[in-house]
Amino acid sequence: MKYAAIQNYIGGEFKSASTSKMMNVISPVDGSLLSTVPMSSAIDLDDAVKAAKAAFPEWSRTPIKERVQVFFRYKMLLEKHLNELAELCSEENGKTYGESVAEIEKSIELTEFACSLPQLVTGEILEVSRGVECRTEHVPLGVVASIVPFNFPSMVPNWTLPNAIALGNCMIMKPSEKVPLSCGKLAELLQEAGLPDGVFNIVHGDVEIVEAICDHPQIEAVSFVGSTKVAKIVYQRTTSNYKRCLALGGAKNHLMVLPDAIPGMTAQNVAASMSGCAGQRCMAASAMIGVGNVDAIIDKICEEVRKIIPGENLGAVINKESKERIERYIGEAEKEGAKILVDGRNTTVNGKENGTYVGPTVIDFVTPEMSVAKEEIFGPVISIMRANTVDEALAIENANPYGNAASVFTQNGGMARYIIDRASAGMIGVNVGVPVPREPFSFGGWNESKFGVGDITGKSSIEFWTKLKKSTIKWNAEAGVNWMS
Ligand code: NAD
Repeated sequence: MKYAAIQNYIGGEFKSASTSKMMNVISPVDGSLLSTVPMSSAIDLDDAVKAAKAAFPEWSRTPIKERVQVFFRYKMLLEKHLNELAELCSEENGKTYGESVAEIEKSIELTEFACSLPQLVTGEILEVSRGVECRTEHVPLGVVASIVPFNFPSMVPNWTLPNAIALGNCMIMKPSEKVPLSCGKLAELLQEAGLPDGVFNIVHGDVEIVEAICDHPQIEAVSFVGSTKVAKIVYQRTTSNYKRCLALGGAKNHLMVLPDAIPGMTAQNVAASMSGCAGQRCMAASAMIGVGNVDAIIDKICEEVRKIIPGENLGAVINKESKERIERYIGEAEKEGAKILVDGRNTTVNGKENGTYVGPTVIDFVTPEMSVAKEEIFGPVISIMRANTVDEALAIENANPYGNAASVFTQNGGMARYIIDRASAGMIGVNVGVPVPREPFSFGGWNESKFGVGDITGKSSIEFWTKLKKSTIKWNAEAGVNWMS
């Protein structure tokens, strides 16, 4: 085992969980055993909540300008440890080193945004009648929780922790049991940056801990990122316990390619979007709709996709079950009459025979009722459908239950605007394959890709992590009493 057994991080200390139940952490790169992770119980969660609750009065009373100083230092530490964090991320998740570097760079950008929060959370004040003023201020919630998925071991925790904590909350993080190592390193860096003990805590585990988080009476808010199936469970359970919840789910992102699209640029973007992070991104292009005759562009896409080499510029998928699931989808599409233009099944990488690799796959002549057209595959696979008109393409896009992202490739500005207005997704790209909004804009989809109000990052997250206090103030007795008194 390469690393020591993983422990929870509670009240500023790494601690063993109360149970002896452990799960192996296997590297998708080569199948080697990296570590073991505890399947903590509700007792461990309760300890973490107690530590967070104890830290809250002092942390929430610390002025925000002081609180963000921790994040200025944390950002510098992320930069200093970038290579180490990227290596760990690749080892546990399977993505390429370059993709892991990009993930840490994105974590740095998210932290930069948290450092700017004092400029954004100023309240409002108005003299509402003579001598009487109303003012508002953003007040932290208390103990909050963040439950994260396997596909971004470092970035998704950093979607929530810098903003929630800079805004004065104390947090319990529940990492994915498949990639639990990166989060521990983030805790070490936060401690080195001077974050007081108990403000950030980690409890490892699976379903039991997630359920305990949803039910814990002293946790005020829960953010979740993962599959739609679990997002619905978490959203329902958390809100039925009368706490606020923002639950981001899965995706099936459609790219619409029009005949006037610039072929080279379109092909490069489509290939990068479907294969980046081995297709394990909630913003990955998973379906493409060719509008009219785009055969020449499809040929170019295949040319680009063939340049993607597993183990070189394509990472592994998370585990054996994922590899099998992805290959099963490709097989079903073939049986249903689709044509596999580039086939990534049965891929192995020399020297990494126990790694779980799927080569990039392009499936053409997919019809909207096939499972590869409807379901999230979460692998480096793109399913191409054909439409005669833009409205037909939009009808296919609109019929899918998800709504994270949709993109259009065209040189016609009017047509792009027409699609922006009608695509049913929270994040739209024009000639961009992965339309992730950069800070200070907010990340969040629509429909079955997100449950709850607001977005998880950027300015919108301020509303989620704080509550608004409204004060009406009169100091001068001569202001008297009026009809509002
Ligand atoms: P997942 O839903 O299986 O797991 C997410 C978290 O929930 C993990 O921490 C896991 O331990 C926990 N969990 C799993 N099953 C549970 C259950 N039955 N009850 C309670 N908790 C449970 O997701 P994953 O496989 O880790 O991640 C991939 C999914 O996440 C994809 O669907 C992807 O689209 C989605 N995702 C979405 C976004 C977004 O912004 N919308 C971002 C990243 C990933």
